[in-house]
Amino acid sequence: MGLVVQKYGGSSVADAEGIKRVAKRVVDAKRNGNQVVVVVSAMGDTTDELIDLAEQVSPIPAGREFDMLLTAGERISMALLAMAIKNLGHEAQSFTGSQAGVITDSVHNKARIIDVTPGRIRTSIDEGNIAIVAGFQGVSQEGKNITTLGRGGSDTTAVALAAALDAEVCEIYTDVDGVFTADPRVVKKAKKIDWISFEDMLELAASGSKVLLHRCVEYARRYNIPIHVRSSFSGLRGTWVSNEPQGDQKVEHAIISGVAHDVSEAKVTVVGVPDKPGEAAAIFRAIANAEVNIDMVVQNVSAASTGLTDISFTLPKAEGRKAIDALERAKGSIGFESLRYDDQIAKISLVGAGMKTNPGVTADFFEALSDAGVNIELISTSEIRISVVTRADDVNEAVRAVHTAFGLDSDSDEAVVYGGTGR
Ligand code: ASP
Ligand code: MG
Repeated sequence: MGLVVQKYGGSSVADAEGIKRVAKRVVDAKRNGNQVVVVVSAMGDTTDELIDLAEQVSPIPAGREFDMLLTAGERISMALLAMAIKNLGHEAQSFTGSQAGVITDSVHNKARIIDVTPGRIRTSIDEGNIAIVAGFQGVSQEGKNITTLGRGGSDTTAVALAAALDAEVCEIYTDVDGVFTADPRVVKKAKKIDWISFEDMLELAASGSKVLLHRCVEYARRYNIPIHVRSSFSGLRGTWVSNEPQGDQKVEHAIISGVAHDVSEAKVTVVGVPDKPGEAAAIFRAIANAEVNIDMVVQNVSAASTGLTDISFTLPKAEGRKAIDALERAKGSIGFESLRYDDQIAKISLVGAGMKTNPGVTADFFEALSDAGVNIELISTSEIRISVVTRADDVNEAVRAVHTAFGLDSDSDEAVVYGGTGR
């Protein structure tokens, strides 16, 4: 008998009908002879609504209480799903993250899982139950406080439980049929990927692809847990993410896996920086001390006449204020002229391990953008990725142009988005 961990996202359990539909799927997996552990997200946009509510009572909701509030969303889904399963004549028990043994560090709102002790889950499934676990939450090892894992964290809960229970597979059910060669909300001709490596999936996730969270893929790779991303709305086979393709899993696009885009970043330009050793260090130390994570960095050649240069970097929009404040405070000691902040940018990335050994990928990428009339503002690369920053207004057109140029378009409009408000 195999052990399967299934995770259902918020759009799959958005209402009572959704919960009943998911209950049927879960029961099917159990009937097929598996032990089944299910991880659920909060119903629909519940998490966002709880955040709105918190902000109405306090401008800066406190970490501990904020986490306590947000975990309520997943508790609602887990209890309702257990009831729906019982109604179908099967035994189910629901567990909070803490009861399921998800132990985290103490960083409220973005805690990391440091251990999973799923004793109660093991007992429950060995007794013949279907175990339902609230995603996105745990309990801190030090203070025994309730924590949350950061937005979208239920995927990580699922993979962590799959690893701790030595599951055969972690199935992630979402509102699209799998991982696509581009966001199907933007590219109608995006193709479903049959199999993708952890390596490429990690780069796609880091580049803004939202179908799987970076942390979840990282976890799956570390413990070598194959992930099957699929839709809870269709019966279709989805995308397998693993080290190596197994059985009939097809590797379709040898060179490029896909195009990702990200509109959540902003660009900061530090203007008039003296071109001498220690300046970049001072700038990025100030940013680091403010606990801001940066992404791309570009320094211009300095003008010989002035000996001054500009340094640009990108960062999450949400951290923009913190970074600007930190730099303003350090302006005197660093000695630059001014700061520019631009949040009307987008990042477009092309990902694929095949580009390591294929010349011309960069040239083709830039040509596709230029043919589409898209101006490039920043460039960064890794061994298996090329990213550019463009104007936010150009993003959809740029993604489609690159997708077509690399032959990724499918012959049919197979990319279906079944649910979710995209919030
Ligand atoms: N409910 C949480 C969120 O919306 C966690 C999750 O969906 O994975 O971020
Ligand atoms: Mg959600």
